[in-house]
Amino acid sequence: MTRRYLGVDLGSTTAKAVVTDAGGTILAASTVQMGAVSQRGMQRAVDAALAEAGITADGLDGTVATGYGRRLVPGAARTYTEITCHARGTAAMCPGVRLVIDIGGQDSKAITVDPDGLVEDFAMNDRCASGTGRFYEVLARALECDLSELADLARRGGRDLEVSSMCATFAETEIVSLLAQGLPPADIASSVHRAIAARTLALVAQVGKRTPVVLTGGVARNRAAVHFLAEALGTDVQVPDRPQITGAYGAALLAMESAGRPPAGPEPGSGDVDMSVPLFPGPAGQDRSCDGCDGVVAPAGAVQLGLRTRAVTK
Ligand code: ADP
Repeated sequence: MTRRYLGVDLGSTTAKAVVTDAGGTILAASTVQMGAVSQRGMQRAVDAALAEAGITADGLDGTVATGYGRRLVPGAARTYTEITCHARGTAAMCPGVRLVIDIGGQDSKAITVDPDGLVEDFAMNDRCASGTGRFYEVLARALECDLSELADLARRGGRDLEVSSMCATFAETEIVSLLAQGLPPADIASSVHRAIAARTLALVAQVGKRTPVVLTGGVARNRAAVHFLAEALGTDVQVPDRPQITGAYGAALLAMESAGRPPAGPEPGSGDVDMSVPLFPGPAGQDRSCDGCDGVVAPAGAVQLGLRTRAVTK
């Protein structure tokens, strides 16, 4: 009987589920957009992946959950941090990767990976919308276009405009002010993409740049984000075929590898860090890090509010 493993990544804005066989081949995958972290969204993602794989939950030989809402996944024998799962899934999709940059809806991470694909170190911004998918959504809304149209617009921009605010709360006002000055939307889009890439560079500086670099997360579907990040890093940036499911894929691989082992205990190999802090919990929609943050683009290497690093034991 063929074995089947399920990985679930319950992120802040999307739920992802991946089913693999015993060789780690992806049999089915789904991504579901949620309003906010929800068990319903997670269940829809799981049901879609199981249906595509042609099995029911009873046919699974192991389930691992990851992501911001990983503790909300019933039936998961183990949970692993996003750091562990993104590194695991990306190393399997892009062998040889040494730096994983994951940009999701409300956080961004830089993870260095050793030649065996194990996590060495990471830095994470989960306190502030700057440099995350949410920031691109603010940009798209202000420019009255879809996220899918944003990349083409940004690639058409030529002039580098000064974008001083990297705070999502103030950026929209600044973008509207640039539009009111009659500046072309394409130049505004490219300038904001450049500024976000500079912010990501500062995150990378926390762990040290390595190559090859792979960008994952929903933002990796934005070709302009990839282009400007490559320009800022001064190196090629690879994107896996399905960049949004790397965490869920890593979780499925860990389900496969831990099958048959008793559940519980600390997350092996992850040096588990509880990432389950509330995102953007401040009053009136303020980012947690807004206190004392001037929202200005910091130079690469500067220690920034909201960035957390921790060495990870292998
Ligand atoms: P999380 O795991 O934190 O929920 P994801 O990795 O799924 O987040 O990324 C969600 C983000 O990806 C959204 O905020 C959005 O900005 C971005 N995104 C998703 N699809 C696209 C697309 N087709 N083009 C550009 N950006 C996209």
